[in-house]
Amino acid sequence: MKYVLVSGGVISGIGKGIIASSTGLLLKTKGLKVTAIKIDPYMNVDAGTMAPTEHGECFVLNDGGEVDLDLGNYERYLNITLTRENNITTGKIYQHVIERERRGDYLGKTVQVVPHVTDALQEWIERVAQVPVDETGETPDVCIIELGGTVGDIESRPFIEALRQLRRRVGKGNFIQIHVSLVIVTGGEQKTKPTQAAIRDARSVGLSPDIVACRCAQPLHPATIKKIALFCDVDYEQVVAVHDVNSTYHVPILLDEQKLTQQLTSTLNLDKLNIPAAYV
Ligand code: ADP
Repeated sequence: MKYVLVSGGVISGIGKGIIASSTGLLLKTKGLKVTAIKIDPYMNVDAGTMAPTEHGECFVLNDGGEVDLDLGNYERYLNITLTRENNITTGKIYQHVIERERRGDYLGKTVQVVPHVTDALQEWIERVAQVPVDETGETPDVCIIELGGTVGDIESRPFIEALRQLRRRVGKGNFIQIHVSLVIVTGGEQKTKPTQAAIRDARSVGLSPDIVACRCAQPLHPATIKKIALFCDVDYEQVVAVHDVNSTYHVPILLDEQKLTQQLTSTLNLDKLNIPAAYV
């Protein structure tokens, strides 16, 4: 199983969901089976109890699961059918750990966020990633994991620690992280400082973004990309720009034009997978 983590910095609502769905679509064009998990670090067990005026409409899955709208994007972009288990919230994972504690599964141990919640998160992700999501009934090759909110948030910490451990455990070549950041335009200038700070924040909690995806109202100037690469200590190609577009269905094209598909292929060793000949 290959994992693609899509996280975000600076502010939420900058298009992580669209970038996660678009990345999944690019992988699908290579003939891979793609599934997706959305992590929402809020205490609600699901989005069904959240006011639409505050959170937007909730999306109802085939199994009745009331979840974040991003799961609707994954289903539409990837032509898959997900279940309520594909949306992990703080409420859901704590409920799961507390039920196990009440059953006595922890055999008298002191139950703690680390390692019990972080282990439960990794088990959950690895189990759900294996569940077939399309009509072939076959196990997916790749799981996109979108971490809601921003990396600096207190409530994200257990998820970040679990994902850091997951990355280490599944090893190089099986995990890639795309960190989505914002480039602000003021006085005609594209400002890279928030992106630099976002990458620093991600590294300070043990994450190490492989791709810096920059949302910006306008296409990024090559000089801006160079600056981000220099100060975030990544290669020029590792910075991908996603400007505002009329239809979010253009985002996969934007990413492909910037060679994201090639970078996913080389970092995740996708050429070594058994891809149907029709797609190669
Ligand atoms: P997040 O997952 O970071 O909260 P979303 O992916 O849900 O963000 O996107 C937030 C909003 O921005 C959505 O309405 C989405 O359609 C819109 N959006 C995302 N990417 C773009 C883009 N490149 N151009 C224009 N609108 C976008």
